[in-house]
Amino acid sequence: MLRSRPYPPGTRIGLTTTIPVEAVLAASLAPVDLNNLFISSPQALARVNLAETAGFPRTVCAWVKGIYATLKEHPEIAAVIVACQGDCSYTQALGEICEAENREVIHFKFPYPAQKEQMRRELENLAGSLGTTIREMARVQERLDPLRRNLRRLDRLTWETGQVRGEENFLYLISSSDFESDLDAYELKVAEFLKEAEKRPYASPSLRLGLAGIPPIFTDLWDYLEELGAGVVFNEIPRQFSLPYPGLDLAEQYLRYTYPYDIFGRLADLEEAVRERRLDGLIHYTQSFCFRQMFDQIIRERLDVPVLTIEGDRPTPLDSRTRMRLEAFVDVLRP
Ligand code: SF4
Repeated sequence: MLRSRPYPPGTRIGLTTTIPVEAVLAASLAPVDLNNLFISSPQALARVNLAETAGFPRTVCAWVKGIYATLKEHPEIAAVIVACQGDCSYTQALGEICEAENREVIHFKFPYPAQKEQMRRELENLAGSLGTTIREMARVQERLDPLRRNLRRLDRLTWETGQVRGEENFLYLISSSDFESDLDAYELKVAEFLKEAEKRPYASPSLRLGLAGIPPIFTDLWDYLEELGAGVVFNEIPRQFSLPYPGLDLAEQYLRYTYPYDIFGRLADLEEAVRERRLDGLIHYTQSFCFRQMFDQIIRERLDVPVLTIEGDRPTPLDSRTRMRLEAFVDVLRP
């Protein structure tokens, strides 16, 4: 049964990570990925400082601090959907802080381990919290098919023909968590971009790199890699945000998504990318104070490709040490 809608159509709903966005759209609400809102702001660094002034410890991940301060500047965001399982304990705590500050918080749990019945129940709960149903969500999923197909095409043009640059790939795919809060406009933007990209000549970077790990907080990573003559032909997590697996029902789609579950799903995805995209090397980005840093060792051990691990803290340009390490990595790999 359809419950009454708790928010008027068009209300902006914050997301702390990629969640089943079909629920937000089915309820005629506007999804806002708070990570994207934070990092695309010229004030991103100032927002991290602001959160520290408000009492957040230095030793907490800057993404969480950035989201907190960004929310302060966006009172129009009526509620926040927090993944209280499958993301991290920092975002769970952030949800509680938001509640303490009288912001409405809706919880979503990615089942751990990934389990279909449990996922169905979580999807139903999420739909109910927003005043919609699983059936409506499935309609939205169908509505999103052509867009998701275009995003897969965009990804292929990155690694197969080189007509899409690594940074372009990153920006379009990362935005698929909330479709830039305007689905129709974003869909058109992707279609127009593809038309233009398909006219470009084929290109083949002399060095093919993959980027694994959570989205880097650095502001100039791709520019610098291009300066070094290396092309990024795989952006692991942004590609996951685009849910690149067709032909699945809603629950299966979000179970196939590797980010919230164990490392082994990610490893299988990375292994396939190394092989299929003929990667010469992998850059593993890690975020200061993030538990996911612990996976670095297993990624290095299991993947049959040279791996360089870099670490970022705040939204700043690359520091000189990281630039030097990237340069040395590219030099060693260069044919
Ligand atoms: S980078 Fe790590 S610690 Fe920071 S929000 Fe993401 S998962 Fe949590």
